[in-house]
Amino acid sequence: MSAPSRTVEQVPVTTLADGHRLGLTVHTLRGAHDGPHLALVGGIHGDEPLGPETVRRILATVDPAELTGTITAVPVANPLALAALHRNTPLDGLNLNRVFPGNRTGSVTEQIAAVLCEILADSTHLIDFHSGGNFATVDYSYLHEAGADMSRAYGCSLLYSHDSYVGSATDWALRRGANAMVSELGGGGQRIDHYLDKGVSGATNVLRTLGMLPGSPSAPPVDQTIVTTLTVIQPRVGGVLLSEFGADQIGKSLAAGTVLGRILSPYTFEELEVITAPYEPSILVLTRESMTNVAPGDYGFMVADGATARPA
Ligand SMILES: [Zn+2]
Repeated sequence: MSAPSRTVEQVPVTTLADGHRLGLTVHTLRGAHDGPHLALVGGIHGDEPLGPETVRRILATVDPAELTGTITAVPVANPLALAALHRNTPLDGLNLNRVFPGNRTGSVTEQIAAVLCEILADSTHLIDFHSGGNFATVDYSYLHEAGADMSRAYGCSLLYSHDSYVGSATDWALRRGANAMVSELGGGGQRIDHYLDKGVSGATNVLRTLGMLPGSPSAPPVDQTIVTTLTVIQPRVGGVLLSEFGADQIGKSLAAGTVLGRILSPYTFEELEVITAPYEPSILVLTRESMTNVAPGDYGFMVADGATARPA
């Protein structure tokens, strides 16, 4: 293997109709010894800027001379969506995380996915960094059989065991035999430093677990729990959502019927909807800031069915 190194390059995707060239910025850290090839991806959804900053902070902590293997990082997978702070690409309306493996002659989001697949073609492991979006906060990670050791080491108390979504980066990685996990941390402007620190320490523990960094990994939290049924609670109506639960309550077990939030009309001030916990018990997975505006069908809350929960 060649000498340890840290490089940054631009990989072209296409030329936009306004004449600007669209490319992806790729950071590569080559270690001193051969080993796993870990891909770190952030910003697949443009309203989740915590991911790119988490990737930046992780790379800042890694000294290539101490690294075994290679890290390829794409901090901003969808620059067009990040610029707009939108989940999907404004130009074609597509969700990048549903179009993998993409298409080199397709619409702009499909082309981005195809180029990402070329960039990550040699990776053996993937961490895909997500958050709750502009107004919601989450704290869990996905648990897939190929990559379960990564998910456990990452250290979230809640692990969601679920099939990967067809067309997602994770699904693409798993289908080609890589180990993969999705981090779902932060969002909504709540506890930002807490979630940035958690992502960095989680990734460091994954790197140690994979033998890519020296040092022993720390044990997962004693309360680490696997859930298999997660439900998004979507408000029927739009208005002002007053949340009863802050981000520090995520992971809490709530009795069925517990009021999670109320939607008021900002016009007449009347109460339009009361959102309650559906399961006995319900484990809180996604919550919102104390006051946010919602449209019908937005992500109001997410809860896991406590009856499906088992120790990790
Ligand atoms: Zn996302």
